[in-house]
Amino acid sequence: MLLTSSPFHSLRRLLSSQIPPPNPLPHRTSALHTLTMPAQLTAALPSYSPAAKAAGGSSASCTASHFLSYPTRRLRNGVRAQVSTTETAEPAPAAPAKPVKISKKQDEGVVTNKYRPKEPYVGRCLLNTRLTGDNAPGETWHMVFSTEGEVPYREGQSIGVIADGEDKNGKPHKLRLYSIASSALGDFGDSKTVSLCVKRLVYTNDAGEVVKGVCSNFLCDLKPGSEVKITGPVGKEMLMPKDPNATIIMLATGTGIAPFRSFLWKMFFEQHEDYKFNGLAWLFLGVPTSDTLLYKEVWNSVWLYCW
Ligand SMILES: Cc1cc2nc3c(=O)[nH]c(=O)nc-3n(C[C@H](O)[C@H](O)[C@H](O)COP(=O)(O)OP(=O)(O)OC[C@H]3O[C@@H](n4cnc5c(N)ncnc54)[C@H](O)[C@@H]3O)c2cc1C
Repeated sequence: MLLTSSPFHSLRRLLSSQIPPPNPLPHRTSALHTLTMPAQLTAALPSYSPAAKAAGGSSASCTASHFLSYPTRRLRNGVRAQVSTTETAEPAPAAPAKPVKISKKQDEGVVTNKYRPKEPYVGRCLLNTRLTGDNAPGETWHMVFSTEGEVPYREGQSIGVIADGEDKNGKPHKLRLYSIASSALGDFGDSKTVSLCVKRLVYTNDAGEVVKGVCSNFLCDLKPGSEVKITGPVGKEMLMPKDPNATIIMLATGTGIAPFRSFLWKMFFEQHEDYKFNGLAWLFLGVPTSDTLLYKEVWNSVWLYCW
C-alpha cells in the first residue's frame, strides 16, 4: 500500500519538515516514532476493515487499521526496467505486465483455523481491565485469556470469539473476530495466553432504543475465571515483517492499535535469540481525547511526539 491519498501527503510533508527525527534508543539503533493525531486529522484518514473491504467500501466504524511495511531490499530488487526496440511496420502490441511475485515465506509456519466454531477452544479469562478513562466517549477493555499454548498465533493474527447465549433465532451466536493485542509470547511471556483490546459497542437505533453489541459486551463484562470460546487463529495479511531491518509504518485509531501493540511488544520489550529489531517503526495513533488514549504505559516507555 502506498502513501498516495492527500491526507497522507500532508502527513508526509509534516513529518519531513516539522518533526525532528528522534535520537536512537540508547541500547540499539532501532527507533519507534509515535505520533498522536488530533481528531480532525484522524477523521481524514481512510479506514480499513476486511468486512468493509469485502463490501467494496470503507467503514466509519472500523476497528482494524492500515499497516504499511516497506522491506526496502525486496522492493528494490522487485523493480525492473526493460527497453526493447523492434523494427516493424506496425507497433508491436505491448506485452502484458508480469505480476510481481511476492514471497510467501512470511507465512511459513503460521497456524490458521486450528479451532472452528463447532469445536472451539475453551479458555478462561485471567484478567479484564478497562483502558479508557471516565471521561472517554465509550469504553475499551484489555483482556487476557488462558490458552495453555493450544492456540499458537503470530503477531498480526486475529481470533474469533463466540459469545455465550443464543441469537434471536435460538441459535448459538456467530463468532466475532478480534485482532490479537499480545505478542506471540503473550502478556505473561509464557506463550500460554492471548490478549484482546475490545471496544464496547452501544448505540441507539432508529426507534430510540439503546442496543448493546452481543460479543463486545460479553467480552467487556467477562469476569476473571469465566470461560470463553475461542476460534482461529486467522489471518495472514497483517503479519509482522520478519525482516528485523524493516521500516514499519503503522496507522491506527481506537482498538486498531491492538495488532501494533503486539508488534511493539516483540520489537521493543522482548528478547529473542532469532530476532532483534534494528529497523525503524512509525506509529500514527489517532485519539479523540486524552482519556481515550489506550495503553498509556506503552507510550510512557517510548518516545512520544504529539502535535
Ligand atoms: C479482522 C477484524 C478484527 C477486529 N478486531 C477488533 C478489535 O481488536 N477490537 C474490537 O473492539 N473490535 C474488533 N473487530 C470488530 C468485532 O469483530 C465486532 O464487530 C465488534 O466487537 C462488534 O461486535 P458485537 O457483537 O458487539 O456487535 P453486534 O451485536 O454484532 O452488532 C454490530 C451491528 O450493530 C449495528 N450497529 C453498530 N453500530 C451501529 C450504529 N451506530 N447505528 C446503527 N447500527 C449499528 C450494525 O448492524 C453492526 O453490524 C474486528 C473485526 C474484524 C473483522
